[in-house]
Amino acid sequence: MSSLDAASSMMAHYVPRAHIVQCSSFGAQSCANGAKATVSSFRRITLGMPSVPAAPKSSGVSTLAATVSAMVSFCQICRRGRRISRHTKKCLHANPSRADLFGSPPRSHVHEFPEPDSRAPPNGKTAIVIGAGVGGLAIAGRLARAGFSVTLLEKNESAGGRMRSEIFNGDDLAGHRFDTGPSLLLFPEKYREAFAALGAVMEDHVQLARVEPTAMRVHYAEDATTLDLLYDAEAMRRQLEEVEPGAGQQYFRWLGDARASLDLGLKAFIEQDSTSALDFVDLTRVGPLALAVNPILLLGPQTWQLATHFSSNKIKALFSYQHLYVGLRPQNAPGVFSLLAATEITDGIWYPVGGFATVRYALVRLAEAHGVLTRYGSEVSAILVDENKAATKSDNQRRIKGVQLASGELLTADVVVANPDLPYVYESLLEGQYTGVEQEAKQICEDLEYSCSMIEFCWSLKAPLSELTQHNVFLSSDYEGSWDRPCTVADFRERDSFNFYVHRPLYTDSSASPAGEDNVMIELPIGNELERAEAAKKAGLSAPESDDELVAAARDAMIRQFERMGYGKSTDGQSTDGGMASLIKGECVVKPSDWEKRYNVKHGAVFGLSHGLLQLACFRPPRQTGIPSLDAQKVEGLHFVGASTRPVN
Ligand SMILES: Cc1cc2nc3c(=O)[nH]c(=O)nc-3n(C[C@H](O)[C@H](O)[C@H](O)COP(=O)(O)OP(=O)(O)OC[C@H]3O[C@@H](n4cnc5c(N)ncnc54)[C@H](O)[C@@H]3O)c2cc1C
Repeated sequence: MSSLDAASSMMAHYVPRAHIVQCSSFGAQSCANGAKATVSSFRRITLGMPSVPAAPKSSGVSTLAATVSAMVSFCQICRRGRRISRHTKKCLHANPSRADLFGSPPRSHVHEFPEPDSRAPPNGKTAIVIGAGVGGLAIAGRLARAGFSVTLLEKNESAGGRMRSEIFNGDDLAGHRFDTGPSLLLFPEKYREAFAALGAVMEDHVQLARVEPTAMRVHYAEDATTLDLLYDAEAMRRQLEEVEPGAGQQYFRWLGDARASLDLGLKAFIEQDSTSALDFVDLTRVGPLALAVNPILLLGPQTWQLATHFSSNKIKALFSYQHLYVGLRPQNAPGVFSLLAATEITDGIWYPVGGFATVRYALVRLAEAHGVLTRYGSEVSAILVDENKAATKSDNQRRIKGVQLASGELLTADVVVANPDLPYVYESLLEGQYTGVEQEAKQICEDLEYSCSMIEFCWSLKAPLSELTQHNVFLSSDYEGSWDRPCTVADFRERDSFNFYVHRPLYTDSSASPAGEDNVMIELPIGNELERAEAAKKAGLSAPESDDELVAAARDAMIRQFERMGYGKSTDGQSTDGGMASLIKGECVVKPSDWEKRYNVKHGAVFGLSHGLLQLACFRPPRQTGIPSLDAQKVEGLHFVGASTRPVN
């Protein structure tokens, strides 16, 4: 998750370079010392709550069956049961208060862990981090470890932001755990680095399982067949040859280029920030990449690149479905995005056993162990900026003063790091705070491109749906048109099939659902609020249809597509003659408008700003292109971290 990377890059901006070097060597040292620490210095941290007995359900994974610790902050959220009748198709969250927006977090399965490596002595400086998403948690812990006195302010009653696992109450959903945000853990090395930067060893906190033997299964509506993304190169070659003679050989050529994009692209633009448009022609940066892969195929649409290797639509789709989860489409995403398929195939797709909540628990624990003060239910309403009296002409003319909470409370700080979605920060937290910039902020936000919104169905199932592996992509028979995001009820009724992603954690983690049952989480990308408003206008509607109407139509479409694939008709040991609909036991839905309410993501765009070429690297806000008329003003002491900012490409 690149927000972790952004946290490290922000540290590079803020903490003096000598200290960074020291931090990273600390990290390396902590890895080396990790094993010793696990046996010698375990410490119990319960974050203010006594430990509670193990969950009654036993798990196939031994560490999960152990005693669990509950975290006080995670237990305050509403546990209202949510049950939905399939027949009435009543929608959930009809009138949600803030607490009602979430289910309960699963209990943490790790209750003991080695004390993280020590922090630097206090440096007398204060820092406020706004937002306890993965980016906010990672940077708060790092700042505290570097000697700052850190307060972390989160508007919700729990940490993790978009990264969370939830359990929804109600008989039909009891015992089912859903990862309602990330479900694919890619780049495990980046997570290890993030833990090392906090003086810890990831494996002491989070147990990763590689999702295997099938990394991803693609289900084609065109002919109700599937293709698998396999780590086994020979099995992959054979599978592709059956679809298109010659594709097996081409696969290795394509994968070589994709892997080069990954290795060299990461080095050039993700592991280091970009602050000038000239970076794109800086040979020391892009030279190795341009020599390894034809630049036209790197920067042109990914569909061009794939067409030079394959003619089968099914194969091209197998290596480009990843746009579903970055909110792009193969027709306009640059070819360099093949790096996503490359990391899935060569580094693997991983899963934190016990769900993604284990990652957020660990980050909270480590931040608090370094002294971060976390305050939940603390919504920031404004970032306060002052004149930089000490500034010379070349310095930033403004500097940070602190923040104001929605309650009216004022907090001052030497450093403020904003983790919420950047357009929201510009528009809602900085507006009016420093002369001239509010206009610029508004303009910037209007000109930006936003990713998709999403309807998320969490279904508990009466029996295993074993045609599915853990990660599944369902693809429409209309390979091009289907990337136009559905926006209206008519879209769901009229189109033949859709692109969506289905997570079935039982494939790897038996703790995800009660024995004999199963569950799936469906992520169905739809138009963001702007796109829905435009579509409504085109359709002659006075306003976009309600979430409830859209969800009902989408649910029917999803069930149709499962049944078109032949799924849900009969399952392991239990006949469900009524088809997919009768396999569903319970449901909870995250509706399009919930995303903005939950996390303040602008226009309900779940992945934040989209990732087109003109919103990557130095063009991603706060824009620093080296061209003064384009660049955002800077405020001394104000920093950003998270998915919509740099270098989170
Ligand atoms: C459905 C879905 C599926 C995804 N799948 C994957 C995946 O499989 N793999 C992957 O790597 N990534 C995935 N992602 C992306 C990943 O979840 C995000 O990139 C990442 O979680 C973003 O973290 P962040 O810290 O940048 O922001 P956020 O998680 O949005 O954190 C920002 C925090 O700020 C808080 N906040 C907002 N406004 C205020 C305020 N005024 N005052 C105080 N606090 C405030 C929010 O409540 C939130 O906690 C997925 C995202 C979604 C939504």
